Amino acid sequence: MQSASSGFHFQPGRLLAVLFPPTCILCGAPGAEGRDLCAGCAAELPFNRHSCPRCAVPFDQSTPVAALCGACQRRAPPFERVFAALRYETPVPSLVADAKFRGRLNTARLLGDILADGVRDQDAPLP
Ligand SMILES: [Zn+2]
Ligand SMILES: [Zn+2]
Repeated sequence: MQSASSGFHFQPGRLLAVLFPPTCILCGAPGAEGRDLCAGCAAELPFNRHSCPRCAVPFDQSTPVAALCGACQRRAPPFERVFAALRYETPVPSLVADAKFRGRLNTARLLGDILADGVRDQDAPLP
C-alpha cells in the first residue's frame, strides 16, 4: 500500500538552482539551460568540430573531413580515437587552470558537461 502523497517532493537540484542560480563563469550573465554559461558565451567557445578523427588535432577549414592528420598518416598512434570537445584557445586555457589549480568546481562541472555533450552528439560508437 502506498503512503499518502504530501505533494512535496524534495529536489536538491532545484533548491540549489534557487539558492545559487546558474551564472555565466565568463561574463556574469544568467546561465542558460541550468549551466554556469550564458548562450552568447557558449556560442563563442572554440568547439573542436573539424579535427583529425584519430588524434583530434584541430584542422583548418580546407582539410577534408574524413582525412587523418599528417602525423597519424605517417605513424598511427597506439590508440583508436581521441575526442576533444574544445580547441585549446581562449578562454579554454584559463577555464582549465581555474578547474585544476584554483578550486573552481563549477568550472570543472561545466567543462565536464561540455565534454559529455560532445561525446553524446558524435556519430562514433561509445567505448
Ligand atoms: Zn557569458
Ligand atoms: Zn591525427
